[in-house]
Amino acid sequence: MKYDVIIVGAGPAGLSAAIYSARGGLKTAIFEKAMIGGQINVTDEVENYPGFEEPLAGFDLTEKMHLQAERFGAEFIEEEITAIGLEGLCKIVETAEGKYRAKSVIICTGAHPRRLNVPGEEQFTGRGVSYCATCDGALYRDKVVAVVGGGDSAIEEGLFLTRFAKKVHVIHRRDSLRAQKIIQERAFKNPKMEFIWDSVVQEIRGEDKVRELEIYNRKTNQITHLPVDGIFIYVGILPNNELLESRLALDSAGFVLTDENMHTNVPGIYAAGDIRHTVLRQVVTATSDGAIAAWSAEKWIIENYDSLED
Ligand SMILES: Cc1cc2nc3c(=O)[nH]c(=O)nc-3n(C[C@H](O)[C@H](O)[C@H](O)COP(=O)(O)OP(=O)(O)OC[C@H]3O[C@@H](n4cnc5c(N)ncnc54)[C@H](O)[C@@H]3O)c2cc1C
Repeated sequence: MKYDVIIVGAGPAGLSAAIYSARGGLKTAIFEKAMIGGQINVTDEVENYPGFEEPLAGFDLTEKMHLQAERFGAEFIEEEITAIGLEGLCKIVETAEGKYRAKSVIICTGAHPRRLNVPGEEQFTGRGVSYCATCDGALYRDKVVAVVGGGDSAIEEGLFLTRFAKKVHVIHRRDSLRAQKIIQERAFKNPKMEFIWDSVVQEIRGEDKVRELEIYNRKTNQITHLPVDGIFIYVGILPNNELLESRLALDSAGFVLTDENMHTNVPGIYAAGDIRHTVLRQVVTATSDGAIAAWSAEKWIIENYDSLED
């Protein structure tokens, strides 16, 4: 089957690219290996995406994008793309089910949470260690939890956890937060939140479930033990770049380098959203990238193929 555009990943970037591409009359397929909507699906409240005066659940937002893309004729294919090859100008996309051909490919594979890589983390994942407050927060009603990190995600998810937990300790390696001021103010005002500064988690301990954290203070060199029922980790994100071949230029952290038109160094291959080397990784920037990538792909196809029918 030959498509004009194949989009890899149906998070906000891919969904936006699909809306623009399909609405522009391009034969568009969008592949998703997990759940349509991407990372934002796990967030209970999105309040910074323009156009909604009240917060809405991440899933509700991406479901609107999904239906919108389908309305314009984008084809959703629930398969994982395992390789992208080239045959002249044509791109060959592989999944376990077969090969698909496209004139242009837009990579929107997003990112995933960075692990702390400390003893106990893997052992207790799902038994007290979590990367998703929305998914697991309700399990910690009247319990004590810790959140690791100082950015927007850490503090927002920590605030969400105060709905259930009786205490939320925020453990941060520095002496101030990176989160936006408005979020910081809410956190400092919340009586359930307590801050442990200049500190890192060295070990997660327990028997069947997490019981305590070993914490190292980087300024005083002191080691303390904090009893907790759960730990939520938000210490950054890593690119989902496993399928990207060595021919695509990446930055030192593994994010895809593009120009302002979202074009990678490979002609006809674009990247959009969290997978891209960029200064801000949010839904609004992902959808913007997706729109630009689809627009640029269309221009590239028109310039490089005699007609859209080729
Ligand atoms: C806890 C948390 C809270 C957040 N809160 C907010 C917020 O309030 N506001 C905001 O604007 N942003 C928020 N963000 C950030 C936002 O979720 C991301 O910036 C956004 O989802 C990026 O969209 P994306 O499409 O680039 O990538 P993703 O959302 O990561 O989507 C990528 C998709 O690609 C799929 N995929 C990957 N590889 C393949 C493959 N090989 N084949 C097929 N499919 C593949 C994945 O399964 C995934 O569905 C939050 C993120 C987290 C983790």
